[in-house]
Amino acid sequence: MNALGQRIATLIETQGPLSVAQFMTIALLDPSDGYYARRDPFGARGDFITAPEVSQIFGELVGLWCVQAWIDQDEPKRAQLVELGPGRGTLMADALRAARLAPEFLTSIDVVMVEASDALRALQQERLRDCGAPVQWKDRFEAGDRPLFLIANEFFDALPVRQFVHTERGWCERMIVADKGVLGFALSPLASAVAVEDDAPIGGVYETSPAALAIAEEIGHAIARKGGAALIIDYGYDRPGFGETLQAVGRHRFKDVLDAPGEIDLSAHVDFTALAAAARRGGAQTFGPVGQGRLLDALGIGARAEKLARLNKNEASLVAGAVDRLASPEQMGTLFKALAILPPHTPTPPGF
Ligand code: SAH
Repeated sequence: MNALGQRIATLIETQGPLSVAQFMTIALLDPSDGYYARRDPFGARGDFITAPEVSQIFGELVGLWCVQAWIDQDEPKRAQLVELGPGRGTLMADALRAARLAPEFLTSIDVVMVEASDALRALQQERLRDCGAPVQWKDRFEAGDRPLFLIANEFFDALPVRQFVHTERGWCERMIVADKGVLGFALSPLASAVAVEDDAPIGGVYETSPAALAIAEEIGHAIARKGGAALIIDYGYDRPGFGETLQAVGRHRFKDVLDAPGEIDLSAHVDFTALAAAARRGGAQTFGPVGQGRLLDALGIGARAEKLARLNKNEASLVAGAVDRLASPEQMGTLFKALAILPPHTPTPPGF
């Protein structure tokens, strides 16, 4: 057990069991030893690779989607373009470069990067130094009082989930316990009131991310009130089910969730049905989710890839490989999904 694991075990031995969500929060965001606080986890040499790191086309198409939504809403001046969990800053850099096609968009927005990790914030600052729009950083999402254009790729999967297991006693929360310094799972002795139907099989697991739902509702509320549009892309499911999806990944391999906290990534599949319902509770309209492949095809990934391949003949096969990775159903095309959040009574956005 590493130093952070020992600290967590001591915390549990003195203060009692932690929920899975509390454990995830510490393992991912502890300021000295948390996973995102310590390192740059992305890319071929890191633990996993995300869509913006696969190809610049991803960020370009997402950027142009935002520009289109902004044009469709009569080009509001003084709007904000927010990214949640920007990683290395690649998505925003590519999006803003593509948005130069609409210079008035760039002069109308302030860019806000919501990032909890100081290490990643430093990478993002470097990346966006000459991006052509004013950029500020925040620790957490606040809707503000201006039209809100928002993008989030693989952010919601990093938010902590609580897990409840269906037992003869009802829904019991899965907790993390410690025995002589060793972390393990246990079920809470008392059942919890959980807002799901009781027809789940015994042993079925219900996962929910209160943090994700709260943010989605706030986004929905802001967009309904002030205008704007959000494009949320992540891996996840779009129908309710009873199964656990919390996973640990290190160096492109699955690991044990409780091993080496802070050294491996923890994430859970996003419940798009619940996320969309939360945004609608906030008053907004939602579209999708649609598969990432379908979205990118509709936004013109094929044409953009051809152009890039023509401009740089040596890289044609790399570009083709990247497109396949992003859009084909066997790769990221269907597991990854996109949800759009718009004000009520606006037409269907491109790709949905
Ligand atoms: N969007 C990027 C990175 C995804 S990884 C990409 O596609 O490559 C998740 C990102 O969310 C990281 O930048 C991580 O530091 C950030 N993050 C995770 N939990 C967060 C939280 N609670 N608040 C703010 N940022 C968070």
